[in-house]
Amino acid sequence: MKILVLNCGSSSLKYQLFDMNGETVLAKGLVERIGIAGSRVKHKSASRGDTVRECDIPDHTEAIRIVLDLLTGPDTGVIKSLDEISAVGHRVVHGGEKYSKSVLVSDSVISSIEECTYLAPLHNPANLAGIRALQHSLPGAPNVAVFDTAFHQTMPPEAFLYGIPYKYYEKDKVRRYSFHGTSHMFVSERAAELIGRPAKELRLVTCHLGNGSSITAVEGGRSVDASMGMSTVPGVLMGTRSGDIDSAVVLYLVEHEGSVQRVSDILNKESGIVGISGLSSDLRDICEASVEGNERANLTLRMLGRSVKKYIASYAAIMGGVDAVIFTAGIGENSDTTREMSLEGLEFMGIKLDKAKNEAVRGVEAEISAPDSPVKVWVIPTNEELMIARDTLKLTKK
Ligand code: ADP
Repeated sequence: MKILVLNCGSSSLKYQLFDMNGETVLAKGLVERIGIAGSRVKHKSASRGDTVRECDIPDHTEAIRIVLDLLTGPDTGVIKSLDEISAVGHRVVHGGEKYSKSVLVSDSVISSIEECTYLAPLHNPANLAGIRALQHSLPGAPNVAVFDTAFHQTMPPEAFLYGIPYKYYEKDKVRRYSFHGTSHMFVSERAAELIGRPAKELRLVTCHLGNGSSITAVEGGRSVDASMGMSTVPGVLMGTRSGDIDSAVVLYLVEHEGSVQRVSDILNKESGIVGISGLSSDLRDICEASVEGNERANLTLRMLGRSVKKYIASYAAIMGGVDAVIFTAGIGENSDTTREMSLEGLEFMGIKLDKAKNEAVRGVEAEISAPDSPVKVWVIPTNEELMIARDTLKLTKK
């Protein structure tokens, strides 16, 4: 069975075609600059090599038409006909309180995704554009929506409510949702397999540290607390987002910078790693500068490590202990410095890192805790696309 997975952004589209017999990727690619001059598609397949196509791509419908053409074309194709695609899985950022699991797309699901647009104004419209374009181009294939927020819907109210008047929750559902749910679910399920115990018995802290980062307390296979909020700004220090901040600072910035939009840009695009270092949002640049003695780069690393450490310890407290800490995504999988700085000083709660193992691990699945560490530490590369494909298969299998 072949399943296409789509992740639509406002001006981009990432895709992967899976053969679910063996869970192999037949082809994948990226469409960039949709609706902007200089659009192009980068298409990769193990059997047919890489292709770059530069052409005018005014909208998602045209982007998907080109992707389907590449998947079946004489020089680039990996399938003979589009009929081979049994179903399509879509990453959808916000499912509000309605969706705690993936769903088959229907008219009412589309309306619900539309209703959540006020919570994810940049993402949900792009995700919907992808679903509609697919319905148009592949009318025979069922579509499945896999929500970034779904995994966190098991958080109890004491975790998801803010300490503001309750009426804002009742009226507009102002609350913590948190994101990256598909990734936290993938690595927590994989951790249970690797540790060799049922997920139901485990207390995990999963650290998804990428450009955007979030940390989740996973107890008995369910998210019970998570570091992002109603938006993707809170939590740990990120590439360009501030992470946790006193709301009075936001009010101060609004007063001094003059517009809400300007402050939104500061907190979303100019803060975090780039804001503190003044150098770059890419942690590799910060690690290099720190080695060369750049003090602000060093400060950035210390702030990042400290913010991750606070979440690990506080989530252990929430769960009454922790069995394993998991690192994933670009930074979590690759930066031994961040992993070490995040765990330094947590020996008191049974976390003992094997420094040599930690230094050796980049982008592969590996245990990095010392053999006698009561709490296990694992690096587990995330695979959100595979998780989406698996859910799509589950919901569409006859
Ligand atoms: P996104 O959230 O955009 O999917 P990724 O999960 O790809 O982001 O993570 C991107 C981050 O991972 C960047 O800050 C990048 O610098 C960092 N990263 C990737 N490789 C390394 C490395 N070897 N050392 C340190 N940081 C790395």
